[in-house]
Amino acid sequence: MKQVLKKAVEVGSFNFRFECQAGCTNCCTQPGEVYLSEDDVTRAAEYLAAGEQEFREAYCDLDSGGDLRLTTPPDKACHFLLEGACSIHEAKPLQCRAFPFWPEHVGHKRAWKRLSGHCPGIGVGAIIPLDEVRAMAQACEDALPSG
Ligand code: SF4
Ligand code: SF4
Repeated sequence: MKQVLKKAVEVGSFNFRFECQAGCTNCCTQPGEVYLSEDDVTRAAEYLAAGEQEFREAYCDLDSGGDLRLTTPPDKACHFLLEGACSIHEAKPLQCRAFPFWPEHVGHKRAWKRLSGHCPGIGVGAIIPLDEVRAMAQACEDALPSG
């Protein structure tokens, strides 16, 4: 379990305007890994009324560095992407819940704006308070492998 405090995340002082768009699943279908904290496993297994070991065996493996991640099924981007939505939305992993406020996205305006290429929620909706942005990015930094 990676819950040692790591470095403090750098958060740029610009406006983080964001609103997730109904019907969009672009962040679920981008290339890349979904890493899991131990809490993620506990919550998702409970949500699915499965045992944690059963969940790990069905949906997870370890990468070459020993970090726990979701496996990718052969026929779609994620085991839990069903009918255009996350079927474990209420218990989805921290990495998914925190998107787009990942440490590598929030330090510089350029990195944030680059996300608008695949996330239509960037730059629309309310300005998210900086302390909320920082809390989400720091939670990822503390609980997940660094990207
Ligand atoms: S890509 Fe952006 S708008 Fe689309 S589901 Fe993900 S967070 Fe929401
Ligand atoms: S767990 Fe849910 S939110 Fe995360 S990638 Fe899979 S379908 Fe998308």
